[in-house]
Amino acid sequence: MSLLEPDEPPAVEIVNPQGTSEAVLICDHASARLPRRLGDLGLSEAQRLEHIGWDIGAAAVARRLSLAIDAPLVLTGYSRLAIDCNRPPGVPTSIPVLTGSVEVPGNRDLSEADKAARVTGLFEPYHAAIAALLDGRAAAGKASAVLAIHSFTPHLGDARPWNIGVTYGRDRRLAGCFLETLQAFWPGIVVGDNQPYAVTDSGDYAMPVYGERRGLLHVLIELRQDGVTDATGQIRWADRLAACWRQFAGDLPALALQPVS
Ligand SMILES: [Zn+2]
Repeated sequence: MSLLEPDEPPAVEIVNPQGTSEAVLICDHASARLPRRLGDLGLSEAQRLEHIGWDIGAAAVARRLSLAIDAPLVLTGYSRLAIDCNRPPGVPTSIPVLTGSVEVPGNRDLSEADKAARVTGLFEPYHAAIAALLDGRAAAGKASAVLAIHSFTPHLGDARPWNIGVTYGRDRRLAGCFLETLQAFWPGIVVGDNQPYAVTDSGDYAMPVYGERRGLLHVLIELRQDGVTDATGQIRWADRLAACWRQFAGDLPALALQPVS
């Protein structure tokens, strides 16, 4: 039995697939929607609409950025509470039983079949779409750089002063361009260099798989939620990211030839 019923929205949405930019945008935590078969997972609506359910504002910024730079954009259709599309399936945070300080009753004691249904119903279609898009562009001789758009909560543990985090794992090439350009253009903005998180193999999926393993330039952008809650903030950040991108887009071919350090 498939997880999604025929009348439910698909697990993945692709915007502007023919976009001419070298940027390929992805949004792993775009939606707070849950598949009908999963009910509410034992959480209130308020909890499901908090940062534990999705990246507030991230999809809106990504859609505007896609429009501004004519880039394709791939978005998840469902909540990270059902399965986190930026985690390798099988790690404890993939289908979280505990997220932040919130227990998720509907994720407790799942059978292997229940877990597999979430992987095949939600995770795999999303990643198959990204892989197909990147494969198609490569086959057409089109270069790709992968930009993941996320948002983070200001309320977790210690104070989080950064307005934006530019994050990466083993390959800082594209992240370095964003860091330099953001700081040069907007000195008043607090930019986190691999803050509030660094990209890791167990805490991430897309950057290791599409960036590092394919050898594509990549960066994961984290926007602090309070800056992208409303349309004004979403437009402001999409414009800033578009301005950064345009500033160094012409240097990407040379950047792609540089060694990863
Ligand atoms: Zn996220």
